[in-house]
Formats: sequence, C-alpha cells, structure tokens
Amino acid sequence: MSHGKDSASSKKYKVVFDKEGCIGAAACVAADPENWKLQDDGKSSLKKGKEVKGQFEREITEEELQAFKDAAENCPVNVIHIFDEDGKRII
Ligand code: SF4
Repeated sequence: MSHGKDSASSKKYKVVFDKEGCIGAAACVAADPENWKLQDDGKSSLKKGKEVKGQFEREITEEELQAFKDAAENCPVNVIHIFDEDGKRII
C-alpha cells in the first residue's frame, strides 16, 4: 500500500513573508542563513521568494519545512507564516 519513498516527502508548503512588518531583527537570518538575508533597506528578504501583493511567497518541500519553522518561530514580530497544502496556517 505504500507509494514508496516519495510519499512522505512530496508534501508542499507555502511560506509567506510579510516584509512590511519586518523590523530587521535578523533572527530569521541567524536561524537559517541559507534562506534569509538582511538587505540594505534594513529588512530581511526571503531568498527565491516571489512578490505577491507586497508579500513574498515561496513554495517549499517537507525537507525544507523545519528550517523555515525555526526562522518563523524566532521572528519577534511574527511576519513569517507557513501554510500547509490545504491552506491551513501552521505558523
Ligand atoms: S526575524 Fe522577523 S523581523 Fe527579524 S529580520 Fe527576520 S522577518 Fe524581519
């Protein structure tokens, strides 16, 4: 009944970064420098994120989820959110 090794890793999540509310605390960069970078404007940027109505979005895999959770949980103003495949907000 198993679909093999990819059944657990095929889930997709969506990261939404509300840059407007970012205060540049850089906790996200400290937690996950692979995916977050502090910019000259004093705010963070989500690497490979695409802009959608002033927010930045990026689809991530289950393997990437933990790193993004770490960043989101460390953000003092909670401007990093993660949604699951059903559109339910995890963080
Ligand atoms: S932790 Fe939050 S407030 Fe700080 S730079 Fe990252 S997104 Fe911005």
